[in-house]
Parts: sequence; structure tokens; C-alpha cells
Amino acid sequence: MAKLIKRTLALIAHDQKKDEMVAFAETHRAILAKFDLVATGTTGGRVLAACPELSLTALKSGPMGGDQQIGALIAEGQVHGLFFFVDPLTAMPHDVDVKALTRLVLVYDIPMACNPSTADMIIRQMTHLN
Ligand code: PGA
Repeated sequence: MAKLIKRTLALIAHDQKKDEMVAFAETHRAILAKFDLVATGTTGGRVLAACPELSLTALKSGPMGGDQQIGALIAEGQVHGLFFFVDPLTAMPHDVDVKALTRLVLVYDIPMACNPSTADMIIRQMTHLN
């Protein structure tokens, strides 16, 4: 039976990790095309520039509340996986958002990858969902 509703994945990458997120999207574009995607503003723009065929909604930029928009979507049950490539070496004004999103994925038991190697493993598993 055909699946009527696509699942949604969220993509976020700190500035020093955006190249890795673009590479991840390019490598897995065929799998990602089976999902609806949401992303923080700049991350989403970079991914769409590299993979324009993807169904991706870019929200606000992370420092302007985009991470928290994704948190709200998680709380509403609208996100089924979070790929958040975190920069561990740079201080950021919105680093509390990492903690907030980590807490929400724990509350709602959503798979979360914070680096490319974990993301590779999770996205391979997700081929079985769609
Ligand atoms: P950005 O936000 O994709 O708009 O840069 C990511 C972040 O730093 O949280």
C-alpha cells in the first residue's frame, strides 16, 4: 500500500559544520528525497543550493530562533529525526539551543545525530522507514 504521509527530518549545522552537512546531503540525496526536510535558515539554503530537488523548508536562522522553531515541531510530533552537526570548538550565543534540542529528542525519543558518522548510520537505517 502506498505511503500517504512523508516523514520529516530536521537539518541543522553550525557554521564550521555546514560543509559537512552539504556533503552529507549530497551523499544521501536519494534517501533524503523520500522525506520532507526542515532546516535552520542558512543550513537549509546551503543544502538546497547543492540539492535543489529536495523538499526542504528553511526556517529562521539558528541564532534568530530557527533551532527553537525546530524544537516546537519536535514537540508537536512533526519531526522524526534530527541531524544537528554541532561545532564543539566555537563559542556561540545560541549554544543553549543544543541543550534544548537534545532534551526534546530525549523527551520524544527522536533519533538525533550530532556528527556525520552517526548521521550516516541513522540515515541508512531510515531507508527502512520510507
Ligand atoms: P543556520 O543556523 O543554519 O541558520 O546557520 C544553525 C545554527 O547555528 O543553529
